[in-house]
Amino acid sequence: MKTALLLAAALLGAAPAEAKVRVVATLPTLAAIVSEVGGDRVDVEALASPGEDPHHVDPRPNLIVKLNRADLLVVNGLDLEAGWLPPVQASARNGAIQTGGRGWMDASASVRRLEVPTRVDRAAGDIHAGGNPHFLFDARAAAAVANAVAAKLAEMDPAHAGEFAGRAAAVTSGLEAVAAEARARVGRLPADRRKVVSYHRSFFYLYEWLGLEEVATVEPRPGIPPDPGHVSSVLGRMKATSTRVIVQEDFYPRKTGETLARLASGEVVVVPAAPRESVAAYYRRLAGEVIDALSR
Ligand SMILES: [Zn+2]
Repeated sequence: MKTALLLAAALLGAAPAEAKVRVVATLPTLAAIVSEVGGDRVDVEALASPGEDPHHVDPRPNLIVKLNRADLLVVNGLDLEAGWLPPVQASARNGAIQTGGRGWMDASASVRRLEVPTRVDRAAGDIHAGGNPHFLFDARAAAAVANAVAAKLAEMDPAHAGEFAGRAAAVTSGLEAVAAEARARVGRLPADRRKVVSYHRSFFYLYEWLGLEEVATVEPRPGIPPDPGHVSSVLGRMKATSTRVIVQEDFYPRKTGETLARLASGEVVVVPAAPRESVAAYYRRLAGEVIDALSR
């Protein structure tokens, strides 16, 4: 009996020190960054599945369960999740992870924002007022997010602040090496090959990182599906600029891109949805698949 009590006391005493920070990230790429920075000090889950459209995540009941138990919610921000996250967050009955709470982190606060509109006009499509939200396609932005995650985890688990900072430094240097190497590869391409068409305006940050030029998007406006008139103008742009490569995510329809690629003797590159390897290796693969297509 006495032994049992001592054992129970020891376990109870040990539990808080060993408790992991329970982190929920909206997107798989964010979850992968948190996992590398947090190591065995965190338990991480993503709300969106790999390959799911981050603008339109299905608000399944299990997302509410995940958020109910979370110590920390990491969001992309810049309204990317505005269409589905707020009701899920509100239903989670967890004060800490509400917007602005101590268990809430907005990754976009740590990156340089591009394409911030001077005027917000809903008629112009699915416009994000704070800027283009798709910064996670830039390895340099991912490095900034890794550092911000380390700072946030240090706030939540100060005893392991040094570990978080150390891991973030390793992640950051890996990403910086990948960023420089990919940019150098693009630099060796002839200038007239550094042109791309995108399905959605998802890759503005990717192109800024790599030094590529987007000549058109298959969507006439963000979130608006292509119509025949717009598609023929995209084909005209592709032919006029000798652009052959169309870049898109997995969850967008491929038919239009494939038709354009056939007519322009080019190809569609479907970018990898989320890391299944280290974060740095994922960014190397992401950039590599686009650069390989431009090199063919
Ligand atoms: Zn978007």
